[in-house]
Amino acid sequence: MSTALLLLALFAAPDVPTPASAFGFEPCAERELATYEEISDYFRKLDAASERMKLFEIGKTAEGRTMLLSVVSSEENLKKLDRYKEISKRLALAKGLGEEEARALAKEGKAVVWIDFGLHSTERAHAQTAPLLAYKAVTDESEEMRAIRENVILVLIPNINPDGTTLVVDWYRKVKGTPFEESSPPELYQKYIGHDNNRDFYMFNQPESKNVATQLYAEYFPQIIYNQHQEAPFPARIFVPPFEDPMNPNIPPLVMRGINLVGEAMTRRMDQEEKTGVVSRLSFDTWWNGGMRTAPYFHNMVGILTETGHSSPMTVEYDPEKFPKTFSNGESTSEPSTYYPNPFRGGTWRFRDSCGYMMTGSMAVLEIGSDRREEWLYDIYRMGQDAIEKGASETYVISAEQWDPGTAAKLVNVLRWGGIEVEQATAAFSAAGKSYPAGSYLVRGAQAFRPHLTDLLNPQVYPDRRLYPDGPPEKPYDITGWTLPFQMGVKVDKVLERVTASTSPVDWAKPAPVAIEGQAGWGYAIDARSNDAFTVVNRLLKAGASVSRTRSALGDWPPGAFVVQTGEDRIQAAARDLGVRIQALAEAPADLVSLRVPRIALYHGWGGNIDEGWTRWVLEQFEFPYESLHDAEVRASGLRARFDVIVLPEASLSQMLGGLDEGTMPPEYTGGMTPRGVFNLFEFTSDGGVLVAMDGASELPVEIFGLHVQNVTANQSESKFFIPGTILKVKVDNRHPVAWGMPEEAAAFFARSPAFDVGREPTRLEDQRGIDPGTPEGYHVVASYPKENLLMSGWLMGEDVLTENAAVVEAPVGRGRVVLLGFRVQHRGQAHQTYKLLFNSLLLPS
Ligand SMILES: [Zn+2]
Repeated sequence: MSTALLLLALFAAPDVPTPASAFGFEPCAERELATYEEISDYFRKLDAASERMKLFEIGKTAEGRTMLLSVVSSEENLKKLDRYKEISKRLALAKGLGEEEARALAKEGKAVVWIDFGLHSTERAHAQTAPLLAYKAVTDESEEMRAIRENVILVLIPNINPDGTTLVVDWYRKVKGTPFEESSPPELYQKYIGHDNNRDFYMFNQPESKNVATQLYAEYFPQIIYNQHQEAPFPARIFVPPFEDPMNPNIPPLVMRGINLVGEAMTRRMDQEEKTGVVSRLSFDTWWNGGMRTAPYFHNMVGILTETGHSSPMTVEYDPEKFPKTFSNGESTSEPSTYYPNPFRGGTWRFRDSCGYMMTGSMAVLEIGSDRREEWLYDIYRMGQDAIEKGASETYVISAEQWDPGTAAKLVNVLRWGGIEVEQATAAFSAAGKSYPAGSYLVRGAQAFRPHLTDLLNPQVYPDRRLYPDGPPEKPYDITGWTLPFQMGVKVDKVLERVTASTSPVDWAKPAPVAIEGQAGWGYAIDARSNDAFTVVNRLLKAGASVSRTRSALGDWPPGAFVVQTGEDRIQAAARDLGVRIQALAEAPADLVSLRVPRIALYHGWGGNIDEGWTRWVLEQFEFPYESLHDAEVRASGLRARFDVIVLPEASLSQMLGGLDEGTMPPEYTGGMTPRGVFNLFEFTSDGGVLVAMDGASELPVEIFGLHVQNVTANQSESKFFIPGTILKVKVDNRHPVAWGMPEEAAAFFARSPAFDVGREPTRLEDQRGIDPGTPEGYHVVASYPKENLLMSGWLMGEDVLTENAAVVEAPVGRGRVVLLGFRVQHRGQAHQTYKLLFNSLLLPS
């Protein structure tokens, strides 16, 4: 080699460390896994060694780890990164940007392609693939990779769920070489929501989702997003788009065309590299918003998901004799078909093969991102422009007058995280003949991300899809309805005109400051219509104040207002920034019932129950004190001496009873609460405790405690009754303490949930004479499904099963009570309107 060449080689590849040199093993080697700490150290080394990478810290995780974002491109491009980000942003937002200028920007700009790894941590191969792709992108001198670096700004997220990767790898190192080597950790791999971390990308409840939202919708505005997953529909080795129907009608056609184009580029490259077993158009649809790859559709971005098989770090021989004959859509697994032209025939599958499929997928996405650079940039502008035109005479108005004004501000902030522009009126105005006070919010349809706005604020109308006419339903990939004004109980008016009002732009919405009216002589009342009234009360209780509730209405406030005798300073401090209505009281209201600090336990079985995690998260948001209750403690006696309330998150009776199967995990995690634990729960309740059973967990008290309650949805045939994640109307008795502060009609999130027929069996005499034995003594139906028109958003089949049956029931057991919350009252941290059913149950007066 000549001196010049040698110098060139040195310049092109200055001591860039290989992943193997950093980890001590090649990533994806058999039975080797790197933790997030090891992976992030490697990215820091790469960043230090290469002018082709820039590394940024983008925020903290739920457990306090630092999330990283790396940008890989040519040295020249990285010097002008701010300019390329600006171009990407202006084209994506399209605002005030004419055709000619957009064309020029598209010509000048670089395609922004986002690839992330590690979201679902028990899918172990993708977290390990990130360093391989980073190393290749930075060092590979092939013509193809040079062109990619020239045309593309690669936003590579080394790990989108750092806490989970380290949890899973630490667990693997602990069980490696034991009979439990293939097991998953006994806890959720995101502190609160585990697998639902891919259900949080329009609501942005968790810090990881918020960090990602900022990068997507305020910083980089990528045109293509590739989100890695495992497992494939067996025996396929990978699922690659095109996706399955139904398609959400709010997705712009060019997004769907872009998905199909990228998908075809990926599948073709896999076959060029003789990677078999690639399947498309199966299981994964484009109906649902809220996933890492789906929420970007509503921002005019092309979102790609792949599901690669074999997440085990161990080598496995796959026997084709044992393959299922068909996929879930009826297509053969052994004969070639349009979307499975090269079937997997079985054989050896190593961990590194899984990583190899992900590398090929990533290279195909980068290649087509590079090849059509200008087109991607111009198309996102075209879609944004189209949205602005379509929404020209459309405004959503969120009045300052709300049942729960603090929750209305939270809804505005959900939109803000998703990149939606919001204004706030600085003076009163009117729209469509209705007047609105100052402080009301306006959201204009004329913005590039209008598809997201439309999708979140309007009811979903899911198509009736059956396997054959009148047959069983085709199952949706996820839920079918999510309309946020319903779930959050916020009134949003859609006005089909361009509303004129004097406004200022909203960065983050804050509820109006607390204005206490009247002269206090005796104390203060706090309006229970606000969810954050419970936050205020929890703070006051914690500070030692004694708090009571009114059993009857207080002026125009519904029953259940909190009252407290304390100084104004203290109540102002507790209520700061929460937007809760407070009034001064000259004298004590009549008909008070006093509260005590409840001793709350939340049942926490092993294995990672997502609904338990969401419940835990919601309780912490509203500052409820609680303890987690594990199986060993439920099996031991003495629950009543320790707790006043025990909450059972959604789970079936058999899951709670049996827990994780013996032999699948180290013995301290198996076995469930056992019949002994169920008996202890019965004894706890009989002794005056309150047992709150959420959704499917109501099976435990209904089946075992001998309640005069039957679940009418059990044993229904799916071709007659199917409600897979739908918003339904419920009537609420808000004079009952479980529903204090609720409106008389509410939105219930129903997902394969129970519903209750309350009443004892008639005696033979009653039966003969046709006498209805009526509601048993002490039983209260707190919420029930109306006679008709239950559907608010999503898909419903067989509403007659639910009509006039109970959704929420309070039932006496000995000296205590059971509360059956028959639907998802805190669904994914979204169903704010029904949080109060849980909160009130925790504070039930004795
Ligand atoms: Zn996944």
